[in-house]
Amino acid sequence: MNDAPLPPGSVIGILGGGQLGRMLALAAARLGLRCQVFAPEADPPAGQVCERVWTAGWDDAAALEAFADAVDAATYEFENVPVATVEALAARVPVRPGARSLEAAQDRVAEKAFLRGLALGTAPFAAADDLEGLRAALAEIGAPAVLKTRRMGYDGKGQARIADAAEAEAAWRSVGGAPCVLEGFVAFEREVSVVAARGLDGRAIAYDPSENVHEGGILRSSAVPARLDALRATEARAAAEAILSALGHVGALAVEFFATPGGLLVNEIAPRVHNTGHWTQDACAMDQFEAHMRAVAGWPLGEAARHADAVMTNLLGDEAAQWAEIAADPALRLHLYGKAEARPGRKMGHVNRATPRAD
Ligand code: AMP
Repeated sequence: MNDAPLPPGSVIGILGGGQLGRMLALAAARLGLRCQVFAPEADPPAGQVCERVWTAGWDDAAALEAFADAVDAATYEFENVPVATVEALAARVPVRPGARSLEAAQDRVAEKAFLRGLALGTAPFAAADDLEGLRAALAEIGAPAVLKTRRMGYDGKGQARIADAAEAEAAWRSVGGAPCVLEGFVAFEREVSVVAARGLDGRAIAYDPSENVHEGGILRSSAVPARLDALRATEARAAAEAILSALGHVGALAVEFFATPGGLLVNEIAPRVHNTGHWTQDACAMDQFEAHMRAVAGWPLGEAARHADAVMTNLLGDEAAQWAEIAADPALRLHLYGKAEARPGRKMGHVNRATPRAD
């Protein structure tokens, strides 16, 4: 495959049309790259800032072929794009990152096995593909534990806490009886994550770890610097870089960790730009979106240096109605996603507060 950098004016196809695709397209536009988005749902947020929207199902072979012929390279902004879709596209046009990264992240059991293979710590886990399997997994892992669907989980959906083995059946029903993984409950001190990116030339960069607060499984805020000692921060970045290179990943990737008194455990990986990296927009010369698009286009990556401390807060549901107040505060940077309907818990935008580095 031709690894020459795609010149300005080239067209990047984005699979998935959410806010991540939107912010990727905005970053691409600054570099003179054009974007087209392919998504099953009509009027996706990314479509408002792309030159063309393809509205078709992930399995629409004819639409995928035509999309592949219209773009110079493609990427995805959503890890639940079917692997078969990416493979079909990759037969016609470079897709960065590739199907390997999707596969590693789509199934929580495969994901944890991959991480263990890299000697990275995870919560204790066992597959639980049916209720009987769940009972066996509970006997092995013990309670408290967290039951998660192996596939298609996000923002805490498809998860149930199990305080006691007697709750097994109710938990099983609440996640819909799909194949699951049972994880030991981790009494973490804090949650941190690293966004890193790898170029076509194999060079990787990693942003500083952020400290993340989730509420009801949904990210509330991310702050940098995280309260993490220097050794752990280095370990977190090194783990992300090891994952990138093991996957041969080209583009951005996020790794979420639990920080425990005994060290870092990887919770999950996302083979894409990530909500916990939105602070990079206002605290770094090059944000995660530009880093990703540079990698996809085969450009040199640039640096992940951070020039400010920052706190990113998500605007969920009707919180986005505060836009005028936020816009009036010169200390805040407002990012809205162009979504019409403010359903409860829906990510409508975010706010970054950047302040001079304290160190
Ligand atoms: P996930 O979708 O796996 O990122 O889980 C969403 C959130 O649920 C995490 O960010 C944690 O706050 C919490 N959580 C998930 N797994 C565990 C676990 N094994 N132990 C404790 N908390 C967890």
